[in-house]
Amino acid sequence: MFHVEHNKRNYINYNVMNIEQVKNQIRNVPDFPIKGIQFKDITTALADPECLKCLRDELVKRYKNKGITKILGIESRGFIIAPAVAMEIGAGFVPIRKPGKLPAETIEVSYQKEYGVDTIQMHKDAVNENDIVLIHDDILATGGSMAAAIDLAKKAGAKKIYTNCLIELVGLNGRKFLENKTEEIDCLLQMEVNE
Ligand code: AMP
Repeated sequence: MFHVEHNKRNYINYNVMNIEQVKNQIRNVPDFPIKGIQFKDITTALADPECLKCLRDELVKRYKNKGITKILGIESRGFIIAPAVAMEIGAGFVPIRKPGKLPAETIEVSYQKEYGVDTIQMHKDAVNENDIVLIHDDILATGGSMAAAIDLAKKAGAKKIYTNCLIELVGLNGRKFLENKTEEIDCLLQMEVNE
């Protein structure tokens, strides 16, 4: 029975949605996880099949001809769309995780956050000097997490590094912070912090 349902889904006619329409489906949650933060909740867009497809298709369009061999997703919302895109463009998927989550030998980078230091890890053998990588996350805010992920990919020896976030929070200057660290910084949508 499952098989029949699955086949039916392949025949669904999606309405073509553009990226600006997806923006309307992103929910702003004030004061989460702490007072003063305007949390950009992408789950409302992910739950809409047409938005989900639009995000996947938009990334495939942008990255299919760049020779990317691996997409590195930043835990945890960078894990959602990246594998679907990787499959379409013939790349592999590599998770960048918080400490203690990956089972085999890891390499790591620590970076300064507003309150304290954070560390991210990747399996040591996940990326090598033959890889052209795309690092992906949901939000570019100050750029600290993405900069650390770039350092991690460099540490692994990646030949070329592209970076992408679904949403860029303009005004936090993440793009400026990443300048000169990577081949390209690309975000699908620009939003104001308070939007
Ligand atoms: P940053 O390192 O400052 O660029 O922050 C980016 C990371 O923090 C991403 O992994 C985001 O998921 C998360 N993040 C930062 N600001 C927000 C926000 N306003 N809403 C949702 N997630 C955020």
